[in-house]
Amino acid sequence: MDTTDAFVGLECVDCGDRFDAETATHRCPECDGILDPAYDYDAVDLTREDLRERPFDSMWRYEELLPFTRAAAVSMDEGATPLVECPSLADELGVESVYIKDEGRNPTGTFKDRGQSPAVTAAVQHDATDVALASAGNAGQAASAYAGRAGLESHVFLPARSGFTNKAMVNVHGGDMTVVGGRITDAGEAYAEAMDEHDDWYSVKTFVTPYRHEGKKTMYCEVAEQLDFEAPDHVVYPTGGGVGLVGMHKAAREFRDLDLVDDEPAFHVAQADGCAPIVKAFEEGKDRHEPWDVPDTICGGIEIPDPGASHLVLDAVRESGGRAVATSDDEILDAAISVAQNEGLEMAPTCAAAASGAWALAEDDAFDEDDTVVIVNTGTGNKEADVLRSHLMGKGI
Ligand SMILES: *Cc1c(COP(=O)(O)O)cnc(C)c1O
Ligand SMILES: [Zn+2]
Repeated sequence: MDTTDAFVGLECVDCGDRFDAETATHRCPECDGILDPAYDYDAVDLTREDLRERPFDSMWRYEELLPFTRAAAVSMDEGATPLVECPSLADELGVESVYIKDEGRNPTGTFKDRGQSPAVTAAVQHDATDVALASAGNAGQAASAYAGRAGLESHVFLPARSGFTNKAMVNVHGGDMTVVGGRITDAGEAYAEAMDEHDDWYSVKTFVTPYRHEGKKTMYCEVAEQLDFEAPDHVVYPTGGGVGLVGMHKAAREFRDLDLVDDEPAFHVAQADGCAPIVKAFEEGKDRHEPWDVPDTICGGIEIPDPGASHLVLDAVRESGGRAVATSDDEILDAAISVAQNEGLEMAPTCAAAASGAWALAEDDAFDEDDTVVIVNTGTGNKEADVLRSHLMGKGI
């Protein structure tokens, strides 16, 4: 395998055992826990100067902290997205500065590309011919794009609810798409049945492959570097499975331990109140979520009623001093419109949960007036322009 020097294998977050990445490919062979890429940090030689000298051209510029070499990566130069200052939002939230990390500028329009790039790279390294996943939509689109680039077949299971763009683009990328009536849980069941029938399919599903959160962690590496190696005070994240939040929290510890940055931000979970299992668990002081009975939100990307890594998400939020907030679909759509009108940036409804959540956090006095707040815009608004437009229609506009 074309792995990087400091990468030492996969560590189970539950039993703590470590496995060789050559043979362990997905969940823990001992206890079925989530596997997390591990490094010998003493062997990581990475300074601020090293990074300043590199072009800001791809998430793979952090290859010392990724499992695979840049040369081996199935990559379309994903990542290296802008961090856009938003002065009118800063005024509204009553803080020193607000930045939007604009992940809409990725190859398939969302930060899911950062996860699929290393996940499909792992599939290639393990000589897979087919990759498969269930997805709310964006991850499926990204998987079919990266699989196509690597010459692999992709099998994508989407719920009927997922957006038109996602379905159309899975077809355009040549993926084998199954649209399942119902929601993400139903798509997950159809995927599980198909996986039982096809031993040779390689999963690139959330927290089944160890590499998606690892790729998404580079969002934080970039933010820290874009703020000239200062940690922001707060990061607000639209949370479904929490993959990106868990990854960014890991990166924050790595950057601090490597003396690249002195502090760590508070990581905040933002969900929609029609599906907020992590917010509920946070408010009740629980370590894990309970499955949400009737998920119902317009924010498809975070309509995840049973997030399997909620314990990791809740740990990251509590350890970093963050909070968890839920807002209504109406507030979320209003936030997307407000950002589009006042800052120019286009947020999809799912992503605007983070903007709406930031407003709610400001109202709860979670921020100080000299704070820097980063809102993660996980995907571009024009993926669901119809949903945003019809919200205006509902207001008679
Ligand atoms: C998948 C997705 C999310 C949620 O991501 P997690 O890291 O799994 O919580 C948020 N926004 C968009 C646009 C997504 O596609
Ligand atoms: Zn284990």
